[in-house]
Amino acid sequence: MTREVNHFIDGKSFTGTSGRFGDIHDPNTGEVQAKVQFATPTEVADAVEGAKKGQAIWAAMNPQRRARVLMKYKMLVEAEMDELAHLLSSEHGKVIADAKGDLIRGLEVIEFACGVPHLLKGEYTESAGPGIDVYSMRQPLGVVAGITPFNFPAMIPMWFMGMALSTGNAMIMKPSEKDPSVPVRLAELMLEAGLPEGVLQVVHGDKEAVDTLLQHDDIKAVSFVGSSNIAHYIAMECSKHGKRFQAMGGAKNHGIIMPDADMDQVVTDFLGAAYGSAGERCMALPVAVPVGKDTADEFVGRIKEEAAKLRIGVSTDDTVHYGPVVSAAHKASIENYIQMAVDEGADMLLDGRGFELPGHENGFFIGPTLFDNVTTSMKSYQEEIFGPVLQVVRANDLEEAAALPSNHQYGNGVAIFTRNGLAAREFASKVNVGMVGINVPIPVPVAYHSFGGWKRSAFTDTNQYGTDGIRFFTKIKTVTQRWPTGDIGDQAFVIPTMG
Ligand code: NAD
Repeated sequence: MTREVNHFIDGKSFTGTSGRFGDIHDPNTGEVQAKVQFATPTEVADAVEGAKKGQAIWAAMNPQRRARVLMKYKMLVEAEMDELAHLLSSEHGKVIADAKGDLIRGLEVIEFACGVPHLLKGEYTESAGPGIDVYSMRQPLGVVAGITPFNFPAMIPMWFMGMALSTGNAMIMKPSEKDPSVPVRLAELMLEAGLPEGVLQVVHGDKEAVDTLLQHDDIKAVSFVGSSNIAHYIAMECSKHGKRFQAMGGAKNHGIIMPDADMDQVVTDFLGAAYGSAGERCMALPVAVPVGKDTADEFVGRIKEEAAKLRIGVSTDDTVHYGPVVSAAHKASIENYIQMAVDEGADMLLDGRGFELPGHENGFFIGPTLFDNVTTSMKSYQEEIFGPVLQVVRANDLEEAAALPSNHQYGNGVAIFTRNGLAAREFASKVNVGMVGINVPIPVPVAYHSFGGWKRSAFTDTNQYGTDGIRFFTKIKTVTQRWPTGDIGDQAFVIPTMG
């Protein structure tokens, strides 16, 4: 019998009633390995009701006690790291080392959230006026929603859980329907760590479940990570329904290679950042911009040779560099972009289409693909491919190179490889992109900074996690207090002034 992945509501596994399901594939074999329930609007609304009850209990606990739940949670997830990584890999297709990285980067946000008693401290001004003190406090929003993409099924749920729960909110999590099992297990472990029932609900589904959350009066904020068109839709709907939102979208990150860069490091970094995790990372480096003909010729020659040697295979094989992509539809989309680049006149140096792994002929594998002489007018350059495809756009100087990421519709991450500190500093200051790496190919900020791109990579005013995450999931209340000692006379019915 096919395994079914249920909702997790009010602390229990809940079998839905919709009769609608999504298929969960094993990307290594192409077979359907399980089915996931799709929630009805009523089921989503019931989950919100349960969350409201749980939130009242949770918010009444002092921040230190909430932090202790998260501390215990970190230990529980660490104790189950191997099992979680295998489960994640089996539905997503990333190799075990990447699956563990997914979990560990999420846990870093949980660790940061353990400092919430400090992070929630408000401000205080004594004697802002005669006998008048002013103080502010951060309070939870209530019930919030988190909608997550397929490509980080542990890290992104933990970004949301860490920030939303530590600050006293309840959360309805709607994970990607492609790999929903790890988010469910992560929620179960939160309960084991001491979270009251109902505070973290997992409902599965598609647009119907998402729309129910977006329109529900009791959902006070929505944190979303996914593709840009859906992120934009989330932002518009939240605005319409008066909700706070963070909506992170797609990416097309550039890596600029200066003539003075350490080419050994550059080639190694691009192998990992362009092809690792089959290119399914929003901070991957799918565009290389070598500066000058000599740099370009050397980079292209060496990356072609090394990329051709990458080992692609079953995600549980710890000798392979990357596994299959997530679905047949995504594989077809990547292959369409490869054909588009060929038709647009880019020089194809490696073609990953038609890659077959003996014994796994129906797996969703794509070999490393490399294009040289890509130009900005090509649609395959302008759009996100999200696969193991590296496009080389040659530039004559740094100014020309820096204009590429600055003018691109996406502005998530960018990297520059150089030994020239001044050039790097100028570049970091001027480039029109949200996260910059200097000799760092994947500059995902650590948990106590915050994560967020610019332009069509993020529709939001606040970044994910870090102190921005605390701000997003709380609202400020400011109290002006006076304790009159005698007759307040003329001041009784006017706006108090601070003179
Ligand atoms: P996606 O947009 O297809 O799905 C994201 C979520 O939205 C899922 O939970 C899905 O069920 C839901 N959804 C899908 N279609 C919907 C619709 N029409 N209405 C309402 N909800 C809908 O994204 P994905 O394919 O799961 O993830 C890959 C994308 O996410 C890439 O574009 C990648 O760059 C991006 N991403 C961005 C970041 C970032 O922080 N900027 C991080 C990771 C991934």
